[in-house]
Amino acid sequence: MQLRVHALMECSTVNGPGARAVIWVQGCSLGCPGCWNPDTHDPLRGSRLHHVSEILEWFAKVSREHRIEGLTISGGEPMEQAPPVLELLRRLREGHPETTAGLFSGYTERELPESLWRAVQAHLDFAVLGRYNARRRSHYPLVSSTNQVLRLYTARYSMDDFAAQSVEVHIDHTGLTQITGFPVLGSPVLG
Ligand code: SF4
Repeated sequence: MQLRVHALMECSTVNGPGARAVIWVQGCSLGCPGCWNPDTHDPLRGSRLHHVSEILEWFAKVSREHRIEGLTISGGEPMEQAPPVLELLRRLREGHPETTAGLFSGYTERELPESLWRAVQAHLDFAVLGRYNARRRSHYPLVSSTNQVLRLYTARYSMDDFAAQSVEVHIDHTGLTQITGFPVLGSPVLG
């Protein structure tokens, strides 16, 4: 099974607790005004198809190199690619049971088909859910607007484990620059 990917980041500390690998998927139909990632909306533009097995190999490698605590899946809209996302999360749990998993979705729990969401949620430690609303900006960890919710699904984290919003700027040896986190309210961290 393949996932349309916008970008990968080996190690981030602003997308959930601890050091985390991050996947931004490509494609989102929700169109929140003021979205920070408009380049991720078109499912075909700028995306690369990655087999779930390839992503797991990448995760195993970066996990060793950076002492990664978990994987965060963001977007774009992960739940619009639910089958490969579910397979990725299931195999991550099987192969890396010590690893935690988090997900950002613009959908609320009520909007998602119940059985599908239950299956995905069973492999998550946390999720941030709901549309981004630029008029209701939030200062809370991981939550961009006050209508969104941060849910915990296991006892591995408490709310105290989620740090204040901040933004990271990563520049690799080729000069490729990636910015992640919360550029509206966050204070900068150079990666
Ligand atoms: S759900 Fe996320 S990626 Fe999609 S438009 Fe809203 S903020 Fe942007």
